[in-house]
Amino acid sequence: MNVQPKRSAIGVPSSGRCQLWIDFDGTLTQQDVLDELIARYAIDDSWRVIEQRWQRGEVGSRQCLTEQLDLVRISPAELDALLTGITLDPGTVALIEAMESRGVPVVVLSDCVELFIRLILERHGLGRLSVRSNTAVFHNHRLKLQCPHENARCTFGAAHCKCASMDVLGQGGRRSIYVGDGRSDLCASMKADVVFAKGVLAQCLDKESLPYVRYSTLHDVTHYLAAAWQSAAMAEAYVATAHPSPVPDAARGEPVPSPGYRDTRATA
Ligand SMILES: [Mg+2]
Ligand SMILES: [Zn+2]
Repeated sequence: MNVQPKRSAIGVPSSGRCQLWIDFDGTLTQQDVLDELIARYAIDDSWRVIEQRWQRGEVGSRQCLTEQLDLVRISPAELDALLTGITLDPGTVALIEAMESRGVPVVVLSDCVELFIRLILERHGLGRLSVRSNTAVFHNHRLKLQCPHENARCTFGAAHCKCASMDVLGQGGRRSIYVGDGRSDLCASMKADVVFAKGVLAQCLDKESLPYVRYSTLHDVTHYLAAAWQSAAMAEAYVATAHPSPVPDAARGEPVPSPGYRDTRATA
C-alpha cells in the first residue's frame, strides 16, 4: 500500500482512464448518518470527548466509532425514521448519471454501516451503486460496529481503510478521482490522482499542502469533470487533424482546469 501523494499526477485523465471513488456521509449525503445517530441516541454526552480526540487526530476512526456506537440505544422504528430523514447532496444523482454515461466506474467508500447506506441509496434510486464500508450487528436496541476492511498497516487507524480498498477494488489502468469531506478520507485522498474536497478534508489537505479541487455541491464536481473531459476531447480532435505543433496538455491527460472553481493546484 502506498499512501504517498502523487504530485506528478494531479491532472484529470480522459474519462476512459478514470475511476471515481466517493465518500458517503456528508459527501453523497447532506448529513452524517453516524454523527446524527450518535448525537441523538447516545445515552450520555461522553461521545463528545472521543469525538474531539478524533478531530485532533489522536485516535483513528475505528476506535472513535466503536466507542461512540457502544453508547447508542435506538429502536428499529427510531432507526428507520432517522435513515428516512437523510437527504442526498443536490448533485448526487447528476454526478452518478454523468459517470455512468461515460463508463466511469463509481465505488462508494464509507466508514458508515452498509445496511444504512444501502437503505438510503435504494430509497433514492441508487441501489445499483457499488459500496464498500463497515457493517454492524443490530440487536436489542444496540449497534456493534464491525470493520471487515480495516488495515493495521494504515497509519490513520481507520475503521475502513479507504486507501487499501482502492488497492483491492481499483481497475488497473484507470487513474483515481476521489471525492470526500472528512478526516476518514485522508488516506484515500493521498493515494488518488485527483481529489475534490470540502470541509475537514479540505482543511487537512491544506495543512499538508496537498493539492485538491474545492467544491460545494456535487454539481461542481460534475461540471468540473465535464469541462475537463470536453477540453481533452477537443484537444484529441485537434491532434487528429494532424497539426504538428506541440500537443495541448489535455491530449496527454494533463490538468485541464475549469474556470469558476478554486483549484488549489494553481496556488500549491
Ligand atoms: Mg464524510
Ligand atoms: Zn488507509
